[in-house]
Amino acid sequence: MNVAFKKPASSARSLDSIAEALLLPTGIDGVYARTAAFEQVVNCLSNLISRYREPEMEVLRFPPVMSRRQLEKSGYLKNFPHFLGCVSCLAGNEAEIGAAVERHEAGGDWASQLSAVDLVLSPAACYPIYPLVASRGQVPAAGLVFDVACDCFRREPSKLLDRLQSFRMREYVSIGTPKQVEEFRRRWMTRAQGFAEQLGLTYRIDQASDPFFGRGRKLMATSQLEQALKFELLVPVHSAEQPTACMSFNNHRDHFGATWSLCTEAGEVAHTACVAFGIDRLALALFATHGLDLPHWPVAVRKALTV
Ligand code: 5GP
Ligand code: ZN
Repeated sequence: MNVAFKKPASSARSLDSIAEALLLPTGIDGVYARTAAFEQVVNCLSNLISRYREPEMEVLRFPPVMSRRQLEKSGYLKNFPHFLGCVSCLAGNEAEIGAAVERHEAGGDWASQLSAVDLVLSPAACYPIYPLVASRGQVPAAGLVFDVACDCFRREPSKLLDRLQSFRMREYVSIGTPKQVEEFRRRWMTRAQGFAEQLGLTYRIDQASDPFFGRGRKLMATSQLEQALKFELLVPVHSAEQPTACMSFNNHRDHFGATWSLCTEAGEVAHTACVAFGIDRLALALFATHGLDLPHWPVAVRKALTV
């Protein structure tokens, strides 16, 4: 894989100087109001990604919340509890809920009356697809491919514009035999390079590991690296030394297949892989690279994005 950046990183501009025109503060770190210019690029990017879609892909759009039970069963609570946001609502009878509201109005605490419900904020777009496919029965011999997306939440408050608590993720997902899903991941790693080049982005693809929680974090990360289960497309949004992961290419092996009893036609546990596009990060990378003035972006980039 490429370890050197594919273009000189010197074109990146200071993010702080462009932030005001793109992402407006809401009072919470990592949660921004998006301006029209930012959204225009987001929409054009989404359309470009759709043009890369494989014809067999089934398109599904998920809401920003998903079943708490499903996410627990997926192993997210064990591996990434520090990022998880759970929906909680006021619980109790009318008198108890009314008392909580009155406490707030008197300057007191109302949140103690909150109780977790059966929903969590989705931390990635692909989690809901595996139980959904499992409920349909066996995976056909040709395998299955999906185009999914949702607004994601991860509890990582930060002042950095590329580290959001609420961000948008698009994913292409493959479910099938070990060979099918690894071929899928490899071909998307190749395609992603053409995609980044079309966008005029400086990039490199490198191996990565996830920020696991707890004492086992080092072991989990090492194992992920040893098995080459995760690659990222990195763009020098802030700096070449600390580039930003704008896409990831993940092979989950039989993790979701075993969890959800996903079986191939041959009766084997299905393997899965996903390719994630960090939409907000890609849009930010475009502005950081080409500047704020869309009409003056390179002609080839404008053509690719049809802006
Ligand atoms: P992963 O599941 O690999 O951690 O995330 C998939 C993609 O989502 C990343 O490659 C990245 O582009 C995007 N992403 C992950 N975390 C953040 C974040 O904190 N902020 C933003 N804007 N995007 C993120
Ligand atoms: Zn995924």
